[in-house]
Amino acid sequence: MAEGPYRVLGVSSDASDAEIKRAYRKLARQYHPDRNPDDAAAEERFKAIQAAYEAVGSAEARREHDQRRRMEDMFGGGGFQGNPFGGGFGGVDLGDILSQFMGGRGAPGGFDARFSQGFGGQTQSPATEHPQSTRGADIEAGLDITLEQASQGTEVRFSHRRMRRCEKCNGSSFGRSRRCAPCSGTGVQTKGSTLTVKVPPNADHGHQLRLKEMGHEHPEGEPGDLLITLRLDAQEGRRWEEGRLVQEVSVPVTTLLLGGKVRISTPAGKRVQIDVPEGTRIGDRRRLQGHGHSGGPLDIEFTLAEPEELSESQRRALEELRDSGL
Ligand SMILES: [Zn+2]
Repeated sequence: MAEGPYRVLGVSSDASDAEIKRAYRKLARQYHPDRNPDDAAAEERFKAIQAAYEAVGSAEARREHDQRRRMEDMFGGGGFQGNPFGGGFGGVDLGDILSQFMGGRGAPGGFDARFSQGFGGQTQSPATEHPQSTRGADIEAGLDITLEQASQGTEVRFSHRRMRRCEKCNGSSFGRSRRCAPCSGTGVQTKGSTLTVKVPPNADHGHQLRLKEMGHEHPEGEPGDLLITLRLDAQEGRRWEEGRLVQEVSVPVTTLLLGGKVRISTPAGKRVQIDVPEGTRIGDRRRLQGHGHSGGPLDIEFTLAEPEELSESQRRALEELRDSGL
């Protein structure tokens, strides 16, 4: 199986949209054909990076990709070809039906047994966990906010598409008649909804907000919920790893080898001086307590500062070092 787009771009699947964009720009520059003429390996990488960015580079494409991934996880990948309902539901967005059917992670979502039979017994319907509940599926979505917004709390307008009860039959044709034109007998239609999301102060990266009954509506039962996962954009040079903020600090090669000091700017905007021990390697880390988001830890990762251009004396000094065997 091909590498997933997040992996190709070197970001985690819960990275903010902005982080994905930055990672893409950096890699695209690095592997651009203009910079790597006649290098087939670089060209292949460049194409993979482009394709990955097309898959998750815009909010809509990313939502679609994540939703498809959740489905594949449930069906073991490539499970269905064509319409699992065996036709007859023309004009209905299959992805919507499936997302309605399956719901989010572990959600007691879904259409009832009449529909699950359409899958030919291929699926363990999540509804079997709650045989009595007929409920629309939950919707999962990510929401990007800044570190500052997360610290102070904020309100964000949020738009998403969801199944609403059919405006003509109000769900009554579901499972009974396919003749209701707006819904083709599914009892529901896809529509856009906009709402205001209240983010409480000191929200953490990955925190999930549950908005009751803002998920998919069910033609006969209760609506599902909208589950919004907060993604805190840590800005250039920072990323999240398992709930911790990691910040790259570029250090001149001489400081790595000989030791020294570097100054960094923390997420809170403070300037802090850090000791770099002699013999520090690229990728070495240090944890700074209290300098991360909301006073949490900040992990510093040392990277190599690449000089733009060497001066004459630097070049001479490096040549001497080379001749000495370093
Ligand atoms: Zn209808």
